[in-house]
Amino acid sequence: MTEWEYAKQIIETIEQHGGEAYIVGGAVRDYVLGSLPDDIDLATSLFPEEVMMLFPKSVPTGIEHGTVTVIIDHRPFEVTTFRSEGSYSDSRRPDNVALGVSLEEDLLRRDFTMNAMAFHDGQVVDLYGGQHDLEERIIRTVGSPFERFNEDALRIMRALRFMSQLDFALHGELREAAKELGHKLEQIAMERIAIEFEKLLTGPAYKKALAEMVDLGIHRYLPNVSTELMRQVQQDERTPVDAASGWALFLHHAIDDTWLVPWKRSNVVKREARTLARLCETGLNEMNIYATDEHLLSTYFKMHGEEDLSHELKQSLPIQCRKELKFNGRDALELGARGEAIKQLLANLERRVILQKLPNHETVLREEAKRWLQRAGVS
Ligand code: ATP
Ligand code: MG
Repeated sequence: MTEWEYAKQIIETIEQHGGEAYIVGGAVRDYVLGSLPDDIDLATSLFPEEVMMLFPKSVPTGIEHGTVTVIIDHRPFEVTTFRSEGSYSDSRRPDNVALGVSLEEDLLRRDFTMNAMAFHDGQVVDLYGGQHDLEERIIRTVGSPFERFNEDALRIMRALRFMSQLDFALHGELREAAKELGHKLEQIAMERIAIEFEKLLTGPAYKKALAEMVDLGIHRYLPNVSTELMRQVQQDERTPVDAASGWALFLHHAIDDTWLVPWKRSNVVKREARTLARLCETGLNEMNIYATDEHLLSTYFKMHGEEDLSHELKQSLPIQCRKELKFNGRDALELGARGEAIKQLLANLERRVILQKLPNHETVLREEAKRWLQRAGVS
């Protein structure tokens, strides 16, 4: 069964129990655009407790804003009760959400017209001109962009990331509102901004979106992002292919290892970005091929739009890891080495084997080790 068929099943079950349910949000946008959505979200007139009673495998993943995750055949579907949002006093979270409103109101709270459509029974419910804007390839807020960005400034970042992902233009009034209200991004949690920025960087029109961001002055509210840095990233011929490689381009041009810190990314992403940035600096050589995970080398090739030779390069090295070296710490101890000398000796032999200056051969390495220790004054 396809995702749509599962979603239909959920809708039917809800309707059999007297409720209304629709596919909503990004899935409807993608459907109208003729592409397959990543995930399908549903909206319903039923309350979360009622949804949980109908579907034995369901998890209250966001019950305070009406969301239950229904699991069918190991696939998750977010089912959210129709809701409207009360006033926003802080430009980021509504002071309260009201459950049990109409579909019309639920769609009205959504950010952009293209994201404010619903789908049911083969029909698109399009109350705010989403299909028209998709045809025109324009991103437009539902209602006044000044009001909508005042409520939640993250929508400015979202507009730019959809611009990149879809290669759309921003509506004129939306641009004006973004210029005027960009400073409100300072009130938004950095993690949420960073997630949208990552999606922007990996979209096909990311250069256009970055240029628009500078035109609108939005980059000034992002940490460590100067106009010059934005220009350098746009001029770079490498392309971000995932979050880590996107950040790597900024790190590479910023020439500052701490550049990523205020963005609050995970340790894995930070480490990968640093590794990729360093590879961009030096190019590939035996030592960094040895030290870098194959999947990151693969990313490196993809960023450069080159054939992925990561596997072949890794395999062409004489050894893949320290364990494969035919000389180890115990051998060094036997030769009288201790502590720091062992570490240095192993690193030295490992390096020469990788660079093919020495064969990975027990007796040869042992003789070399003796010589090294003599020179180091150990024995
Ligand atoms: P993607 O395909 O990248 O997941 P999406 O449109 O599904 O895109 P989500 O962030 O998953 O984006 O949000 C789901 C839906 O929730 C959106 O389509 C939109 O209707 C609504 N939405 C999300 N964030 C906001 C927001 N900040 N303000 C208003 N509506 C929002
Ligand atoms: Mg989504």
